[in-house]
Amino acid sequence: MNLTERDARHIWHPYTQMKTAAPPLPVVKAEGALLYDEQGRSYIDCVASWWVNLHGHAHPYIAEKVHQQLLQLEHVIFAGFTHPPAVELAERLIGHLPDRQNRIFYSDNGSSAVEIGIKMAIQYFFNQGRPRTQLVAFDMGFHGETFGAMAASGDHSFFTAFQDFLFEVKRIPNPVQGQEAAALEALEAHLKTGEVYAFIFEPLVMGAGGMIMYEPEILSQLMALCKKYGALCIADEVMTGFGRTGRMFACDYLTEQPDIMCLSKGLTGGTLPLAVTSCTEEVFEAFWSDDKYKTFFHGHSYTANPVGCAAALASLDLLESEGSARDRQRVEAQHRAFRARIEQHPAVRSSRQRGTILAVEFESEEATGYFNNLRDQLYHYFLDRGVLLRPLGNLIYMIPPYCITNEQLEQAYSAMEAAFSAFLLQEQD
Ligand SMILES: *Cc1c(COP(=O)(O)O)cnc(C)c1O
Repeated sequence: MNLTERDARHIWHPYTQMKTAAPPLPVVKAEGALLYDEQGRSYIDCVASWWVNLHGHAHPYIAEKVHQQLLQLEHVIFAGFTHPPAVELAERLIGHLPDRQNRIFYSDNGSSAVEIGIKMAIQYFFNQGRPRTQLVAFDMGFHGETFGAMAASGDHSFFTAFQDFLFEVKRIPNPVQGQEAAALEALEAHLKTGEVYAFIFEPLVMGAGGMIMYEPEILSQLMALCKKYGALCIADEVMTGFGRTGRMFACDYLTEQPDIMCLSKGLTGGTLPLAVTSCTEEVFEAFWSDDKYKTFFHGHSYTANPVGCAAALASLDLLESEGSARDRQRVEAQHRAFRARIEQHPAVRSSRQRGTILAVEFESEEATGYFNNLRDQLYHYFLDRGVLLRPLGNLIYMIPPYCITNEQLEQAYSAMEAAFSAFLLQEQD
């Protein structure tokens, strides 16, 4: 039996209809932006392996740091104990995070980072003897897979089975061009009840909801409203963090600063699962007490795993280098030139970009959305051409590792252009 057949016997893949999906591609090694299968065929990883990879695969510098840490200290309980990588990483993250962030709470995936942020916000008010009951989020926000994170997420078609089991979250319009006033008005109406403990959002780019992009000015205005009514702001930077949007964090574009931030995905450069929920000293102080009941009772077995922290420190070394900054600017410029090139293409409805994130909406007669049939066809069309892209319905996006070369970018762009022409003809048939 080959690897694919053995996989099919016992493995259940994420976000995959196991009956109808094509067999998974076995990847045996990777380097830079390239994934290699058993036959030595290569695929350009234009989605950074689900938005996690920053500096390329199997990066020797990160591998060396992880190796050293494994021989030194692989793991230790983080209640009652601490260790150098956790402390150093906290110090370095605080140096990069927006001004008021001052405390680092570790976990191991983005959904958990979001759960922790929501729980912190709830208990922040509870501990002060004035509990509040409402969470506010954007219509098409996406915050993860666990129950709190699903509840905070918008009405996504893939969560339908769980809808009746989720706690209620107040929705406001995505603040895209033309909807800014509606979003402000809806938020203020909720805030006026005095019941809102937090507003959670993906700053500037709403990823899984369809790479919906909006401007820093409107987000700053929404956050200022929260401040006026004493509600906390939770910035979910799980996808946008670590240089993705052109700055270190999307919040760096804002004039207001969040109270709580959620980080994961790029935190370790895409090497190991690790997450952080950071908060201001003011949030932390609501838990600081002689009263044991004001403790934040939350923790995961692998909280602050030293190997994960070592990978994150190595990733930060790379991210802080001039070469990485140049790469991000280069990718951003290449994306911009490609958008100009396809602007007039009859198959392109629209395109948008923030930093290294590019999204192109394909002109399709079917409704835009996750279950758009075009999606599966496009996915395989690109794979056949050695390019890994995972369209969201008829939306094709790129979130490449920063080290992707101009030649590799060109190969991906050309595959997209070829697809526009091929599929436009098909739609017209
Ligand atoms: C991916 C994602 C999450 C969930 O992170 P996981 O590590 O997959 O649990 C949460 N929020 C945003 C914005 C994301 O993109």
